[in-house]
This record gives sequence, structure tokens and C-alpha cells, in this order.
Amino acid sequence: MQHLFQSWETFSSDIRATSHVLLLLDYDGTLTPIVSRPERALLSSENRGKLSALAKKSAFSLGIISGRPLPELKTMVGIAGIYYAGNHGLEIEGPGLKLINPMAQAAKAEMKDLAGQFSARLGGIEGTIVEDKGLSLSIHYRLVKQDEVDTAAEIFQQITSPWLQKGKIRITSGKKVWEVRPPIDWHKGKAVETITKEIKATHDGEQLLTIYLGDDTTDEDAFRIIHRPQGWSIFVGEEKPSSNADYFLTATSEVMAFLSSLRELK
Ligand SMILES: [Mg+2]
Repeated sequence: MQHLFQSWETFSSDIRATSHVLLLLDYDGTLTPIVSRPERALLSSENRGKLSALAKKSAFSLGIISGRPLPELKTMVGIAGIYYAGNHGLEIEGPGLKLINPMAQAAKAEMKDLAGQFSARLGGIEGTIVEDKGLSLSIHYRLVKQDEVDTAAEIFQQITSPWLQKGKIRITSGKKVWEVRPPIDWHKGKAVETITKEIKATHDGEQLLTIYLGDDTTDEDAFRIIHRPQGWSIFVGEEKPSSNADYFLTATSEVMAFLSSLRELK
């Protein structure tokens, strides 16, 4: 794993050599620093401006791929004409695309049922945030007191284990969050493939380079499929050799510097 800025010469020549760049970014922890409550992770107008400027260039297509529900993600980013993938890609929208995974749609009632159970039983533990995202759920425990995290984890396991045994859910964990999804073979990597396919169809015959930036475990599915010469996978955080990403930027501040520099290249 190499720091992206140390590989800038190679990166620049890849960007200059390709005809089209698909820039895909995660939201939380990538475009905005991780904060105590998810609703406080706001994109600054300066950063929105940087993204918009790139989106306006004909050589670039942009997409934001997040665990957040699609409508919320679109509102928080607030840039028209780009791709948005919500709920880890279970719902995707953008030029030429409007998809909701039908299996996830069918599992909506079950997610709601589970959300109710989590709220009822975790409500007594101060700081837990149960987020019903329609097609999936997030249980945040960043604000839970350290000595109560184990209790919260135990309750989480009690509620989810019968569902897991029946194969009705999948669980992933991220930064102080447990995520519950329908048991569908679908993840951010598949969202990347779906958007890439659409771009290839609309930019027929052009050479395409994909860049993906993300900071958490769910981004690994995207990193896994993006390598040179087809693309650049960039982990956001301190160097992490176990990551599937080939490059890294240490913090969201470096991501912002990167967006400015990228604009100069094409
Ligand atoms: Mg993230």
C-alpha cells in the first residue's frame, strides 16, 4: 500500500492517458469526518463545490456510494446529475439508471419488524441509535458508554441470532456501527460494477479509468475489484496493509486536497 501523493506521477499519467474518469466516493469518513451523530456529517460548501466542479467536466463522471438510504444521501450531497448508490448499492440512481434491488424491496417489512425490536430492547441503553434505512438497518453505538457496549452487543446478538439461523439477514460491522441487511449477494463492489457498465455503454469505445475512495470495511468489496491499469483504489485512513486498496490518503482533509489536484489534471 502506497500513499497516493507519493505515487502522484504515475497517477497523473494514468489520468492523462485515459479518455474518461469515473470517480466513485464513499460519503461518511471519506468526504466528511466521522462524527458522533450521523446527521451531523455535513458536506461543507467548499467540498461540494470541488465535487461539482469535477462533475461539470466532460471527462469525468461522479458517483457517491454509501450505506445511507438513497433519498438522504442525495439531500446531503446535493449535486444534480451524478450517480448515487444508497444502502450499500441496493438502490442506485443517476443518468440512465434507476434501480432498487427487488429482493431488498421484498424484505422491507422484515427490516421494519427488526427495527422495532431493536428500538424496544436497545432503547434503554443510552446512546444507541437505531436507524431504519428502509432496505437495511444501522445500529450506531458510538455514543454508548464504554461499559455498556457489551450489553448492547449481547442484546443485538439475541435479536439477530434467530434471523441469522434462518438465513434471513446478513450482518456487517463498521466504525461503531452494526449493519443488518437482507441476505442478498450484493455490496458496494456490485454497485461499482453496475455504474461502470452504464458508463461504458454511454462512452462506447472510450478508455475508462475508475477511481474509488472509501474508509471502512464495506468499501473493501469495491477495493477488491479495482486495480491498475483499470483503476485506482484508495483507502482513506492511516496506512492499513490488510486493506484491498492499493493506495491510501490519511484523512478527509487529504481527500479534499486530492479533489483539487485531480481537477488540474484533466
Ligand atoms: Mg465510510
